[in-house]
Amino acid sequence: MKNELFDIAFENTAGGMFLANSSGRVFFLPGVSSRALQGPDLSPRTSALLERSDFFSNRLNLDGVGARLRGRYFADYAGPYIHIVTLTNRCSLNCSYCSASANSAPGRDMTRATADKLLAFVFSIRGGGLTLEFQGGEPLLNFGVLKYIVEKAKRLNRGARKRLHFSVVTNLQNMDQGKLDFLESNGVAVCASFDAVRRVHDANRVSSAGSNYDRVAGWLREIGRRRARGSSMEAPNAICTVTRALLPYPEETVESYVKNGLYRIQLGPLDPLGRASGNSGLGYTPEEYFAFYRRALERMGELTLREGRAVYEKGAFNILKMTETAERNPHRNLEVLIRLAYDHNGDIYPSDEARMLACSGDDFFRLGNVRRDTFSGVLEKPLARALIASCFGELSQPYCARCPYAYYCRISPVYNYIFQGSFWGDLPSSDRCRFFKWMFGLVLRLKTDRRWSRIFRVWLREGVD
Ligand code: SF4
Repeated sequence: MKNELFDIAFENTAGGMFLANSSGRVFFLPGVSSRALQGPDLSPRTSALLERSDFFSNRLNLDGVGARLRGRYFADYAGPYIHIVTLTNRCSLNCSYCSASANSAPGRDMTRATADKLLAFVFSIRGGGLTLEFQGGEPLLNFGVLKYIVEKAKRLNRGARKRLHFSVVTNLQNMDQGKLDFLESNGVAVCASFDAVRRVHDANRVSSAGSNYDRVAGWLREIGRRRARGSSMEAPNAICTVTRALLPYPEETVESYVKNGLYRIQLGPLDPLGRASGNSGLGYTPEEYFAFYRRALERMGELTLREGRAVYEKGAFNILKMTETAERNPHRNLEVLIRLAYDHNGDIYPSDEARMLACSGDDFFRLGNVRRDTFSGVLEKPLARALIASCFGELSQPYCARCPYAYYCRISPVYNYIFQGSFWGDLPSSDRCRFFKWMFGLVLRLKTDRRWSRIFRVWLREGVD
């Protein structure tokens, strides 16, 4: 039977092609080019794979395609459920790459009155889930308001019955046993900033009170000990900001994480924002980052096979999981649709990056304030609507419309605005687009490798996103 192709996007490369369709199936097909897709040269195995995956319009599973499209376009949308709350713009460290340009100047803490308005705002949004993620500055410096919000949210939730989740993103400089007791007993997950190699971490994350590396490693181990004693506290998370100084140490970075009980590793490329912008000396070329990342990933693969447990990178894992399940991770930068961010004074932004941009004097992305605005009022604003449209690159970005990764990829307009000076940006020249193409290509190619298939099976069995 002739293969009638259904709504495909593809990219031919040396060694094979990337092929995707509008219901989220995407593959790397080694040794195949787009010319072969309709012809008799397609192997029976590849042909069967594409048939099962709804690539042929004359043999579609229409119910399955319909269900996936309904999910993708939020047929049962109930509003954002991730709320990033800046408790203070003060910070106890003086990090070389701080994008929030935080410092120790007083007077920039969230008050209880603003917290009350914030809680009224987030509880007014329909939907069964509610995640409050505390950020800063350093959120532990305003711990009284963190406690206030957690306790009041729990009281409000007795009537609302949402799935409530809390997390705090912290440098751990101001952690103590009492604060950890509260976080533990109230189910607040901890995400730390951890640059893995002591001399790099301490040079980046400058503290006037001794090594921050030692503090972070010490508290991560303390959480591990509590969990080993039966605590229900979530496994801690950590984010590693890759700076030029870390580039020579990809293997050491991975080993340091594992030594400190962290098996999920997030290797965030440096965004040249705030203090990391311009000639800070912290940045690097995309090729230098790719070389670092590839070596780090290789060590994670080796440790996964050797230890028999998943040691994995969060970005690669997300791509792996999404392309296996054909479901987009809803946490993936879906501003306004899934998440909102709030400054200490109640100002509302689509993301923490937009909030940080405002800290440096440009409030282009400010959507309102919890003291004055309702959620439905925010949704009426042209800026909010444009942000929602931008969540679907295949509909709003001509360059993405034929890209095989569009189903899972999204570049935030905040990023375009900062680095290219416009809301929609110019994706053919965007470093972020280049980064995503490289990441998707890497994971999809590795899926066709026998050794990496074994590694990915362990990741899929144990990994969490
Ligand atoms: S941003 Fe780039 S990688 Fe992402 S979908 Fe668009 S063209 Fe593809």
